Amino acid sequence: MVVNRDLDSRISHARDASGLEMIPEGVARAETVDDVVEVVHLAMSINTNVTPAGSQTSMTGASITDRGILLSLAPMNRVLDVDVSQRLARVEPGVTIGQLNRELAGSNLMFAPDPTSEQDATIGGAIACNASGARSLYYGATRRHVNAVKVVHADGALATYRRSHPEKNTAGFAAAQDPVDWFVGSEGTLGIVAEAELCLVPMPAHIVGLAIPFRDQASALLFVVSARKGEGGRTARCLEFFDETALGIAAKSIGSTWSDAAAMIYLEDDAGEAADLSEVMSAWLATAEQFGALSDDIRIFDGAQALRDARVMRHAVPSTMNERGSAQITNGGRKVSTDWAVPYARLGDALDASKLAIEKYSAPAPVTYGHAGNGHPHQNFIAHNPQELRVINESIEETLRSVIQMGGTVSAEHGLGKLKQAWLSLQLSPRQIAIMRAMKQTLDPTGLFSPGNVL
Ligand SMILES: Cc1cc2nc3c(=O)[nH]c(=O)nc-3n(C[C@H](O)[C@H](O)[C@H](O)COP(=O)(O)OP(=O)(O)OC[C@H]3O[C@@H](n4cnc5c(N)ncnc54)[C@H](O)[C@@H]3O)c2cc1C
Repeated sequence: MVVNRDLDSRISHARDASGLEMIPEGVARAETVDDVVEVVHLAMSINTNVTPAGSQTSMTGASITDRGILLSLAPMNRVLDVDVSQRLARVEPGVTIGQLNRELAGSNLMFAPDPTSEQDATIGGAIACNASGARSLYYGATRRHVNAVKVVHADGALATYRRSHPEKNTAGFAAAQDPVDWFVGSEGTLGIVAEAELCLVPMPAHIVGLAIPFRDQASALLFVVSARKGEGGRTARCLEFFDETALGIAAKSIGSTWSDAAAMIYLEDDAGEAADLSEVMSAWLATAEQFGALSDDIRIFDGAQALRDARVMRHAVPSTMNERGSAQITNGGRKVSTDWAVPYARLGDALDASKLAIEKYSAPAPVTYGHAGNGHPHQNFIAHNPQELRVINESIEETLRSVIQMGGTVSAEHGLGKLKQAWLSLQLSPRQIAIMRAMKQTLDPTGLFSPGNVL
């Protein structure tokens, strides 16, 4: 197993989607589980660190490092086995979510978690970040879909952990009962996922998307609360919010215009569960009209190509904002994305709190979009220079204090990485953080893995 120390290899692994740059001391690209074990032994022997990486789409600097070896798992990209009857897939960690779902075509099964980055995001990265996406409103985040992991520990030992699913269990502390959960969301700090067994779900029968424009943001958010409660008699499989700027970016990406709208909700529903499509549409239209939707301008996405267009529309917003942020890196700026979430009915209150914080610190206005059904918007700020970066972060910290008071979280899907770990203590007590440190000390006593992530 070669560890490349040449500058070109190191620079080619020095960036993720956070806007940070960290040049590793060496780069290794694992092709087998044995390669992973070998790199861990090598790192131990020369007293250096190992940071695992998949496609390096992390938004928080979690998959870059300037300490030790950056270990790419991307070459381990084989789907090893699909058991259609048990609805399970065994995969190497470098398989991307998009690739897995393409390989599942024809089986009538899919891997449900759908981060916007699904065409690039690897299974290893998705597990390590507990990634989620629009469909997670219905299916939950990655954690729920991981049945087993093969892990390389910090002493080089290999272990396989499988969920046992007992209906009742009082054996020991909850934190110790299911080791699969140690690694889901651990951001590469507790072990390296070298293989995973994933739970698959049946493909829905007939997904239909609806883009529903509203004259104002408050009405759009009230519609989300009603939809989430199922008041119109239908279950939304995703409920995505676009503010006016996000709506402009989204509309342009698919050649649409919603000129009178100040906000939009994109939802999906499985019409296959209904007697006919018109019933589904009538139910949603009636609910939307109660909240003053611009019903003449509702756009329906029905059919495979139309649903691909809807994904293009949704993905256009983060991609565009990433490009705008990247253009500011040479000026000392970058994109700053929030990842906080609150109980869905408090989303309007949380956005009001954010508005006040932005005004207080004179931070630039963000573009706001995302998973409103989970109370989880992304606010994307573009900092044009270090001074803007500072006021943006101050305003976010103030918003996070309100978010925590509302029962929310500082990070719902991107993880903490190297950018957001200072905010962990806003949410978790010193005792909870001490328990995390004890887990780290137990599983990685020398601090071999992913220095600077999470803690
Ligand atoms: C445009 C864009 C949109 C995005 N949208 C979403 C979204 O909707 N939802 C969402 O959740 N995220 C989103 N992300 C963030 C990111 O794509 C996800 O977290 C993704 O799951 C990371 O996968 P990756 O393969 O790129 O992992 P990396 O970025 O390479 O790594 C991420 C973390 O996982 C660890 N890791 C990677 N592989 C392993 C392994 N085999 N074993 C142990 N640890 C490992 C790394 O050390 C790091 O801590 C988005 C990113 C971009 C750029």
